[in-house]
Amino acid sequence: MKNKKSILKGRASAVFLIAVTAIVCVAFFILGIRRMQNIYSEQMYVTELETRKQSLSDSVNNFIATIDLKRSEADEYYTELMTQSETKAKEYAIAYGDYGEGLSNYFDSVALCDCFSYIIIDASTNQVLYAAGALSQIEYTGDVDALTEGLAYSTLIKNGNISCVYGISKEYVETKLLNELAGEIKVRKYQDGEYLWIERIDNLEGGNDFATVLVHPGNPEIEGKTISTETLDEKDNAYNQAMLDGIKADGEVYTTYWYQEYQSDLISKKIVYSKWYEDYQWVISMGIPAHEIVEFVSETEKENQPAVYRMIALITTMFVVLFGLGMFFIIGNDRRLFLRTEKILRTEAHVDELTKANNRKFGNRFLEEKFEEYKKTGVSPAIMILDVDKFKGINDTYGHDAGDEVLKKVVRVMKKNMRATDTLIRWGGDEFVGVYDAVSKDGLYLLAEKVFESFEDLSISSKGKIVNATVSIGFTHFKPQDKSFKDAIKRADNGLYHSKSGGRNQFSILDE
Ligand code: GH3
Ligand code: MG
Repeated sequence: MKNKKSILKGRASAVFLIAVTAIVCVAFFILGIRRMQNIYSEQMYVTELETRKQSLSDSVNNFIATIDLKRSEADEYYTELMTQSETKAKEYAIAYGDYGEGLSNYFDSVALCDCFSYIIIDASTNQVLYAAGALSQIEYTGDVDALTEGLAYSTLIKNGNISCVYGISKEYVETKLLNELAGEIKVRKYQDGEYLWIERIDNLEGGNDFATVLVHPGNPEIEGKTISTETLDEKDNAYNQAMLDGIKADGEVYTTYWYQEYQSDLISKKIVYSKWYEDYQWVISMGIPAHEIVEFVSETEKENQPAVYRMIALITTMFVVLFGLGMFFIIGNDRRLFLRTEKILRTEAHVDELTKANNRKFGNRFLEEKFEEYKKTGVSPAIMILDVDKFKGINDTYGHDAGDEVLKKVVRVMKKNMRATDTLIRWGGDEFVGVYDAVSKDGLYLLAEKVFESFEDLSISSKGKIVNATVSIGFTHFKPQDKSFKDAIKRADNGLYHSKSGGRNQFSILDE
């Protein structure tokens, strides 16, 4: 009973241990997944940021390719225009009569384009006769070559004393191109509120008016205004300075710009890519609000969430089941081992080592139980006490080992004649107690006779010698007057004594 209780107790604490361990493991597991998810999100943010940065530079570089294409188309157009205009102007001037005035007239009102600047000089006097456009702003010093400095395209026409330089100013070409690009930028649509803008660097050293905003679809009011390298963003970063430094160092740069969201207190971050376009001293930039990336990541996360939860649930279940099964087997094994060990210990505790009969300790308990049972039922087992005759003599004559063999033989013989319900106890030395279940008063004599006869041959051989032995026995039952089993043992012992004193090798019954 006590053992069963302790097994149950052990099992309960094992189950508790499993539960606690499983909960702790699952908690760690879920924390682990959360951590993994965070790392995954961070990774996703970094990857997405890289992708967006790449797409920023791709957009800017594509746009620069568009600029180059437009410029080369414009170049073809202007070159053709210059050639045609030269021929037509000359024809017109000749037809006009006055060559100088004719040319002036032609460029002012007849030419295919209002893009021309011209200056017409009397070479004999170096006097400027007519001038228009960019060339009218120049002080003529007699150096014709110096006149072409501000021109992207120029041609010199000479006729007699008349020298004419006409062409298209760099400023005109640039402004025309810029207007076209502004139109293009404003129609171009980029994802997530991205847009391109163009600034012109007026002073590479930086400073208050270091650049002019040329095109800015996000904030058209600042077009034409200058900007400063001193300007700080919402987090005190001199972002224009950072842009200028990057452009000067590498021709391109990524900068970060913190700004206050429109009609909100929120401070947001913009990642900007800027590239230097040297021919016009332009910087072409494009930005993306960083929260777009965060939103993209959290959207993706949200989409993945159910799958993650399903995975957590699946793995947790698998884990708990496997862990439970594992523990079940371990505990099962432990329990089997425990029971086996316990059985061995229990057996060892009540068995006499030499004869394998039950020992005196067990005998006392057993007889106590039997006596209790008798008091309840009135049914008594037969109690027998047996002692080997002259055993000391056997020891002395044939040696202790021979004595041991005789004792073992006594047990073998007795066991052979006992039923499963009967019990044999080594009471001490050469004395044995037998308890024969449910033997009636009348049956006792038959039993005694049968038992005694079974000891007819107790001989053993030791060191080539035959050792003979006999036993004396006393029989009894529990009696109503007995206070404990000891009284019955005493009575049986008296019977034994009677047998001994009667000459040994006999049995006596004392059953009153
Ligand atoms: P009796 O017929 O009067 O019983 O004479 P006895 O010589 O048998 O006397 P007793 O029963 O008193 O002697 C018991 C002896 O048994 C004493 C002891 O030396 C011996 N003995 C006790 N235990 C063992 C044992 O385990 N092995 C052997 N070989 N001898 C034992
Ligand atoms: Mg004896």
